[in-house]
Amino acid sequence: MAARVLDGVAVANQIRAEVAPEVAAFSARTGRPPGLAIVLVGDDPASEIYVRGKLKSAADSGLRADLERLPAAATLAQLLEVVERLNRSDTYDGILVQSPLPVAMGPDAERRIFDAIRPDKDVDGFHPINVGRLVQNRAHLVACTPSGVIELLDRSGIAIAGTRAVVIGRSDIVGKPMALLLLHRHATVTICHSRTPQLATVAAEADILVSAIGRPAFVTPEYVKPGATVIDVGITSLTDRATVERLFAAGSKRRDTFERRGAITIGDVHPAVEQVAGALSPVPGGVGPLTIAMLLKNTLTAAIQRAG
Ligand code: NAP
Repeated sequence: MAARVLDGVAVANQIRAEVAPEVAAFSARTGRPPGLAIVLVGDDPASEIYVRGKLKSAADSGLRADLERLPAAATLAQLLEVVERLNRSDTYDGILVQSPLPVAMGPDAERRIFDAIRPDKDVDGFHPINVGRLVQNRAHLVACTPSGVIELLDRSGIAIAGTRAVVIGRSDIVGKPMALLLLHRHATVTICHSRTPQLATVAAEADILVSAIGRPAFVTPEYVKPGATVIDVGITSLTDRATVERLFAAGSKRRDTFERRGAITIGDVHPAVEQVAGALSPVPGGVGPLTIAMLLKNTLTAAIQRAG
């Protein structure tokens, strides 16, 4: 039987519909809307799309959202200056520096920038103070993608407490905060990564399996316990025809999209998992829209806290 599809678009719309009146109330009370500053360095095409989506969504919800652009050749010092100015500004409650940063900025540029953003404006939840608070289960600003996954599970009626959860991926921005959030909700959590032996066997013990590795169709049915909930965080733009033809049947919707556009967006989860999982978040239309919805929610939270 095909898995139930967890509709990230619908859940994100619900969250946005809840945020909008609160934004209006905040604006009425303080005389200004919550403000979000997004900083984009360079012209990475995927980042351009993400940033456009964030700006539009924020504006639709009544937030003030402004874009600061820096050229690809900008230095780390210039970017730090922009962050410092935004830190001091009364207009902006939230600051988001879009990653990835240009390689020329150096290998630790992202960490240095995330460290420089004021913790109370850190709507990405990446600052070490906010990560520390998350570890202690007292964070106000939590990374948007993992907290979006929790919303998707909760609002789809999927219980977390008492379950066995496996997270594949241990990045600071997705895997680790995801595991902590599941732990705080009383799941028994295992984190897997590229050095985990017998990964499929470990994953197949999960009632809730979250994959955040960025390897297209990596999670095949042998990774999935029948009836498990599978959350696919991975996003890959697939342009290789042979792989697309191997994964999707001729005449299928995905194949048609590939023929039209020359690329399709897919996740970490193999299409055949649909026949094994009990519930599954699709890519696109699963976790992605929730990441943006949680960014709006975090900006509102930051604004309310800052306004006192
Ligand atoms: P990342 O920093 O590159 O981390 C990837 C993680 O996957 C690492 O921990 C790595 O293990 C692990 N990994 C890679 N190959 C593996 C393998 N063969 N077996 C087991 N583990 C493996 O990536 P990220 O920033 O966390 O993002 C992960 C994916 O989520 C990407 O596709 C990204 O585009 C997507 N994403 C989506 C959203 C959204 O809104 N939906 C938001 C953020 C990210 P090691 O640590 O051992 O190297």
